[in-house]
Amino acid sequence: MTPAREPFSVAIVGAGLTGLTAAWRLQSAGLRVKVFEKADVAGGRTMSIRKDGFVFDVGAITMLPTYAVTCALIAELGISAHLHKMQPLIGIPRNGRIHRLDLSRPVRSLLATKLISFGAKLRLLKLLVPMLRSWNRSNYQSLSPLAEWDGETIASYVKRELGDEINEYIAGPIIRGNTLNSTSNAPIGELLWMLRQYAAPYVYGFDRGINFLAETLSTRLPVEYRMQVQSVSKQHGKVRVAGQGPQGGFSESFDACIIALPPPALLELAPNLGDKQRRFLHSAKPLRSVNVHLGLRRPPPISETFVLPPESEHRDLTTIVMDHLKAPGRAPAGKAVVSLFFREEWSAANFERPDPEILNEALRMARGFIGDVSADVETYVVQRWPYAIIRSERGLYQRIRDYESEIDESDCVQFGSDFLSMGMEAAVSSGKLLAERIQRLGVTAGAVDK
Ligand SMILES: Cc1cc2nc3c(=O)[nH]c(=O)nc-3n(C[C@H](O)[C@H](O)[C@H](O)COP(=O)(O)OP(=O)(O)OC[C@H]3O[C@@H](n4cnc5c(N)ncnc54)[C@H](O)[C@@H]3O)c2cc1C
Repeated sequence: MTPAREPFSVAIVGAGLTGLTAAWRLQSAGLRVKVFEKADVAGGRTMSIRKDGFVFDVGAITMLPTYAVTCALIAELGISAHLHKMQPLIGIPRNGRIHRLDLSRPVRSLLATKLISFGAKLRLLKLLVPMLRSWNRSNYQSLSPLAEWDGETIASYVKRELGDEINEYIAGPIIRGNTLNSTSNAPIGELLWMLRQYAAPYVYGFDRGINFLAETLSTRLPVEYRMQVQSVSKQHGKVRVAGQGPQGGFSESFDACIIALPPPALLELAPNLGDKQRRFLHSAKPLRSVNVHLGLRRPPPISETFVLPPESEHRDLTTIVMDHLKAPGRAPAGKAVVSLFFREEWSAANFERPDPEILNEALRMARGFIGDVSADVETYVVQRWPYAIIRSERGLYQRIRDYESEIDESDCVQFGSDFLSMGMEAAVSSGKLLAERIQRLGVTAGAVDK
């Protein structure tokens, strides 16, 4: 009789969407997985807080229909019924009036809007050429194919080619509203990529909150909470994972390991980084976010899901989300959830301020757009992210390319997160890819069936 084969064992560090997707793929392929998570919940930067009947998405806000890998995972898990389509209505304020753009009808919407002048609308057509050229290059696995478009900032390109008005009222709100960054920092490739991502007739919201995907995955996987991994080292063909947990120090041996963490944490742990990879991760500046979420007694008089103030309308407030419009069940009947996001510099300067002060300042900033809602605040959450996403800047996509040139797909320690592209789809795609590499390793070692 041949002895039973030991299952190939894989440690996964981090129970965000990258780690959970990798663990799910590997477990489904018959490998033995164990997920180490330092927090006491799964989901990382997709976090939903349920409070007094309100559901607050305090990390990631929304999913796009272009998130094909995430949508396939949601279908595989059987939770698609919790995902709701919403009309992508965006409001852009100018001179005291909110101008509506319906992204499901971008051409009709742009032709009809009084947000920008007729001349600006005509000039906007010039963006079609780089958009079409970059269309099939940008993807959620890597933004390195956009390296050709990362030498110039959006502000410089758009002001020269399309005019100040488009920079202020179209490019600015898109970039500020989605990335909390400015068109003076982000490369033109980022605008092309954003337009590509949003070219869809709807956006998605989860009725149970954005974290429902991570929660579902975590209940079907062996996740160990409050386990902070402090070292990952290779020893005699095995990988040792060590750290601190609720019972004190731990140290365990595995056949392979996936470190699914964003740059700062990854730099501390990954044992096998190349020079270019180290350089890229060091240079990846974290974009901080302090966001405020309001549970309101009644909805403000706004029917757009997203209101994106341009810089000239408000320097610091970048994004107002009517979360109660994202999906049913997000607020008790007749009530509302509104989230406020701010530009990175404001968040950095106010990171340590006490919650009540931040709330008052946020309400004051939002007054010009949603009215004075202070008397309607039933409950609220102030969320602080020391690392929300990478701050995009010139040269970023080229550095991603350099990073990728040093990936060793056959190493028993693989690492990734959302930093080679952007958002939840980048995290889920990265988790899938990392799992495929580890599975191939198991096949080569003869421990996993093809
Ligand atoms: C404010 C905000 C708004 C966003 N909006 C959107 C949006 O609208 N749409 C979108 O698609 N994306 C959005 N994102 C980005 C999206 O949330 C991320 O791309 C995605 O969640 C990243 O997942 P991840 O698993 O790679 O990383 P993370 O979610 O950061 O997961 C890493 C996990 O590792 C754990 N960990 C860290 N160190 C250790 C350690 N030493 N040991 C063990 N565990 C550890 C952490 O606790 C965490 O759970 C937003 C993010 C933020 C913060």
